[in-house]
Amino acid sequence: MEKFFCEKCNKKVNYYIKENTIKEYKGQIVNVKENIAVCSECKNDIFVPDIENDNLKRLYAKYGELVGIISAEEIIKFREKYNISQRELVLVLGWGKMTINRYEKGALPSKSHSDILKDIIDNEERFKLIVNEAFEANRINQKTYDKLLSSFQSSKKNIIKSLLELELSHDEDIENGFRKFDIERVENLISYIASKVDNLYKTSLNKYLWFIDFENFKENVRSITGLRYVKQQYGPVIENKGYEKILDLLDDKFYKEETEDIYSNSSKAKIISKNNYDMSIYTEDEIEVIDSVIEKLKNISCSQISDESHKENGWIENDINDIISYDYADELKMEFK
Ligand SMILES: [Zn+2]
Repeated sequence: MEKFFCEKCNKKVNYYIKENTIKEYKGQIVNVKENIAVCSECKNDIFVPDIENDNLKRLYAKYGELVGIISAEEIIKFREKYNISQRELVLVLGWGKMTINRYEKGALPSKSHSDILKDIIDNEERFKLIVNEAFEANRINQKTYDKLLSSFQSSKKNIIKSLLELELSHDEDIENGFRKFDIERVENLISYIASKVDNLYKTSLNKYLWFIDFENFKENVRSITGLRYVKQQYGPVIENKGYEKILDLLDDKFYKEETEDIYSNSSKAKIISKNNYDMSIYTEDEIEVIDSVIEKLKNISCSQISDESHKENGWIENDINDIISYDYADELKMEFK
């Protein structure tokens, strides 16, 4: 064991550990265990930095918990979530260089710092505002700013992804064409269809997707998107009104444009492609199917597409709200070749 200096003995000595309990700290009952180094020769307390640091860490953690001060773990988790360094975080916040470093090592954050950290951890919009301020005030550079912006996007994307997966993802079976719901495949496909089809509305979008998935299942024995479809009055649609959620939540590759329908006096959402789809995620066989379905359907009207879908056994033989099994793909009447 390393020896430490004893003031009484006036030399480096061996020591042993005595345990004590700190009952109170700044008016809070903490009851934290404390280790005290004792000189083996004169039995007086001696100062060992590592032991003292551990004691303080435990004490501050307990005290912080009692008075609602943020913990080191919460700060570390926050930095990891946004892939931001200690140095970058203090620049964003405009704090002293070593502040976050000290907090993560166990120093007790001030109440005001703790409140700010909790605020930006709980509320991403607040964090975004502070990041923008920091960038405008030149506290952070372009590189850090860009990195944070892309973290914001991917954290938003992850939330949307888990929301949609919760509703639309199932184990692979005949009902989803032996593919798990794949958000990338869905959003790129919608963007692609919207780029090729003028006046694409959600009713016909559902039919494009259904015919593409079923035709692909017929040709290549697997769906393209992993979506499940149910029978609705106007034809097959994505289950759980999934098309509403997909169109409301996703906006990287396409967006909705509300248009007034003068005949029905209601508004219709037209789907506009941002033309940034990535078709390299599909196989050549899949793209062939996608293109052949789009070519066929884009030359017929919405109501005709609807009528065609009503001739399909998958639609006829199921009840409203039933899932249309991909078993029906082999019986598709619409020809795409
Ligand atoms: Zn001593």
